Amino acid sequence: MSKCIYCKSSNHQKWSSFKDIFDARHQLYSCNDCGIYFLNPQPTVDQLIQAYDDHYYGVGEDKFNPTVEKVVEWFRQQNSKAFASKLPNKACVLDIGCGNGSFLVNLGKQKDVELHGIELKGRSAERASQHPKIQLHIGVLEENTYSLEKFDAIVLTHVFEHLDNPKETLRIIDKIAKSYAILQIEIPNINSWQAQIFKGNWLHLDPPKHLNLFPPKILKKELSKLGWQITSEHYFSPQFSPFGVQQSILNVILPKREILYEHLKGNKDYTKEFSTTHLFSQKLFHWLSFPLFVITDGIASLFKKGGTVKMVFRKMPRH
Ligand SMILES: [Zn+2]
Repeated sequence: MSKCIYCKSSNHQKWSSFKDIFDARHQLYSCNDCGIYFLNPQPTVDQLIQAYDDHYYGVGEDKFNPTVEKVVEWFRQQNSKAFASKLPNKACVLDIGCGNGSFLVNLGKQKDVELHGIELKGRSAERASQHPKIQLHIGVLEENTYSLEKFDAIVLTHVFEHLDNPKETLRIIDKIAKSYAILQIEIPNINSWQAQIFKGNWLHLDPPKHLNLFPPKILKKELSKLGWQITSEHYFSPQFSPFGVQQSILNVILPKREILYEHLKGNKDYTKEFSTTHLFSQKLFHWLSFPLFVITDGIASLFKKGGTVKMVFRKMPRH
């Protein structure tokens, strides 16, 4: 039996067992010592390469229909405005797992800041490298990638759960952040109602790519040990949560997971056994029920049970 990827304890228990879209089985365990959830055993390198091939980033239409995409874009703009308002002028900002760089580009439009991004080699990194204002590091965050106390702000948006060594990443983040720097981490909420109801069918388990899932209070506790203070937490996410419920419902009913999600991304190979009418009816369900699940997520977020969580921390000065 392997050890917890965070605290290395062998004292853990199985939470759920489920298949990924490549028909491989995975198990999520929860650690009785530190409280995190992790895939056990961890996926193989080959499984991860397969999971991160080009169709992960979408080849076809936008992820949502045009109206929803506009709403999502509006929320993205609001997010970058809110984030910009927390930064000093000329702030040095790092987006770890910056994707195509859209967050940084939006941020650069709001404020005069120095933009840094890290992304793995691939199509997203190529897109990010097209933006002249982004100083891009292709690869992963390592000990000497950046100098000590360089950054005023560090962001990980749906990236932390992909890390195979989250403890090491937090340690390096702590080193490269200035005093009073802010750290914004957005992750799926394993304590959400949708995770607890759907378990192995929950969209945001995203096997085999999500290697760890931290309950929000555990992440707060671990960062507080390093000297970071929580300044805000948000559990309402129209971008991720309503779709999380919709796809999880479909996963319960249908013979394999994430059919609608893969269809919207243009993965024709995965959806070929389903008729056009069938796929259209799934999209219709998605459009018609979207407002309903925005409302239920709003309610869930009041109880800190929304499908995702965005937490902001501040690095307190060391004595
Ligand atoms: Zn542990």
